[in-house]
Amino acid sequence: MSEREAATGELGLIQAFVNTVDLMPGVEELRDPNTLKDWLVARRLMDAGQPVDESDLKHALAVREAMRGLIAGNSGQRIYPVDLATLNEAAIASRLRMRFGSGGKARLEPEAAGAVGAIGRLVATLYSAVQAEDWERLKLCDSDPCRWAFYDRSKNQSSRWCKMASCGNREKARRFRETHKRDS
Ligand SMILES: [Zn+2]
Repeated sequence: MSEREAATGELGLIQAFVNTVDLMPGVEELRDPNTLKDWLVARRLMDAGQPVDESDLKHALAVREAMRGLIAGNSGQRIYPVDLATLNEAAIASRLRMRFGSGGKARLEPEAAGAVGAIGRLVATLYSAVQAEDWERLKLCDSDPCRWAFYDRSKNQSSRWCKMASCGNREKARRFRETHKRDS
């Protein structure tokens, strides 16, 4: 596997949002309010006419890391209450309400406008993604500096690293060195 596995649909949107930062080389895609706005507008989560400021950026990054924390639960890690609180607060701030769409299907929609509403749409997307059958396939890379969100396509859902060639081998080497140290 040479590429990191991507999910599609709602799960894919959550994955793409969480992966707007690549922690290892440390490349941040959401560098300022403008890049956040571009990202949200490109995914039709908000209108281009609405302003995005520094507090929206701070809010978006907090929600993104809370989502990463929730995904960590699929990799057997502990889910922290602070992450759940951040997601709950984002839902309240965006005033998510249940709405029946034109096809008769119910969904959550924010009453808030602008970036807060757009982030509410991401939380609503997470709400339905968590209930989807393949939610547990969205995992975090087990390599501590990486923590990339990847889609585990393996039959028995046993993948632990976003890329075996880099993260997998680095972690194996690190664990080998640690074991060796203890033995000597
Ligand atoms: Zn990785």
